[in-house]
Amino acid sequence: MIWYPYEQMKTMKAPYKIVDADGVYLYTEEQKLIDSVSSWWSVIHGYKHPELNRALISQVEKFSHVMLGGLTHEPAQRLSEKLQSWLPGDLDYSFFSDSGSVAVEVALKMALQYYMNRGEEKRTMILALEHAYHGDTFKTMEAGDDEDYHFVLKAYGPSRHVVHIPTEIGALEQAFGEIHDRLNCLIVEPLLQGAGGMRMYDLSFLKRARELCDRYGVLLIFDEVATGFGRTGNRFVADLVLPDILVLGKALTGGYIGHAVTVASKKVFEGFYDDRPEHALMHGPTFMGNALACSVALKSIELFETRDYLSKIRRIEEITRRELAGFDDPRIREIRIMGGCVCIEVNDASTLKGYQAFAYERGVFSRPFLKYLYAMVPYIITEEELVKVLGTMKDWFAGAR
Ligand SMILES: *Cc1c(COP(=O)(O)O)cnc(C)c1O
Repeated sequence: MIWYPYEQMKTMKAPYKIVDADGVYLYTEEQKLIDSVSSWWSVIHGYKHPELNRALISQVEKFSHVMLGGLTHEPAQRLSEKLQSWLPGDLDYSFFSDSGSVAVEVALKMALQYYMNRGEEKRTMILALEHAYHGDTFKTMEAGDDEDYHFVLKAYGPSRHVVHIPTEIGALEQAFGEIHDRLNCLIVEPLLQGAGGMRMYDLSFLKRARELCDRYGVLLIFDEVATGFGRTGNRFVADLVLPDILVLGKALTGGYIGHAVTVASKKVFEGFYDDRPEHALMHGPTFMGNALACSVALKSIELFETRDYLSKIRRIEEITRRELAGFDDPRIREIRIMGGCVCIEVNDASTLKGYQAFAYERGVFSRPFLKYLYAMVPYIITEEELVKVLGTMKDWFAGAR
């Protein structure tokens, strides 16, 4: 049987069985649903996109996959060239992997080894944020800060290698003041912390982080697995503050195939580039640079660029602000909106119990977690469809149940 994610298998309710998907819609045998989750925030162009489908079909007729160990191919070369010219600054060196968690692992390994290669072996520590989520593998769990996902780590006791701080400049300065000589990196989900509760914070924090990282020679890592490709209203937050390592995943392939990339700046790349074999980056996921994933990623980026996706995202934000203006309820703690993300945080998780079935009846797929009712819709959504997603949220509080 299938062992489902984040579920107590004994008590979970049966998942909805999807038989078709097209545009923003998921289809079960009896219902048509707007996917307000974009399949974990990845399906930015919607389902069954004709051009993405064609990109995959034409590649599958050549080959679907060859390894990158000792081999290379045009889709991977073209994608790395595209990222090199498209991403800001000198983020020019693309290390591909099969998932966001692995790509974050690679970023953390790069940061640690960067200093080991320079003989600075005391720099073993990571500075990270409270409520961070960086994936479900062991080092990403440790960099993360959410007991609801990662309580199994308690078995090891408190981490000696990760310090978590709130998104406050004072806490940032204090941490750098105390442990800068032991830090190899600061890792953040910039501006928007996703799985930790759609928490939004100010750009000034990231600007100060950049200054402190420069002053103390600490690498700044942006985990833009969730925020990349427009979700915050910016193409990448890295366009506003330049990190040393950038991690992309989720929407990289338009949600078609699991793939991710860790992009290093020239400085980081050069920390590995010399005549000593032991200075090489010893990592190599079997499916890194998968030809289907690279082909569909190239087409996805082309759509994003040529169809003015940033203005689509601005429209989503405007409609969301308009529809939720003045909306309130005593059970609501806060409403947060940024780009293509909206979150209604409630005071008590029980307020959201039953919401998924309520939304299903109205033709919306939603998956609230803990105290967070959110939407991260595909960018191709129409105004009418978006109003329906938001209206369903409001109706729940209006007591239409
Ligand atoms: C989803 C996510 C990851 C993990 O990506 P997977 O592909 O699920 O391994 C890492 N970081 C952030 C910010 C994410 O949202």
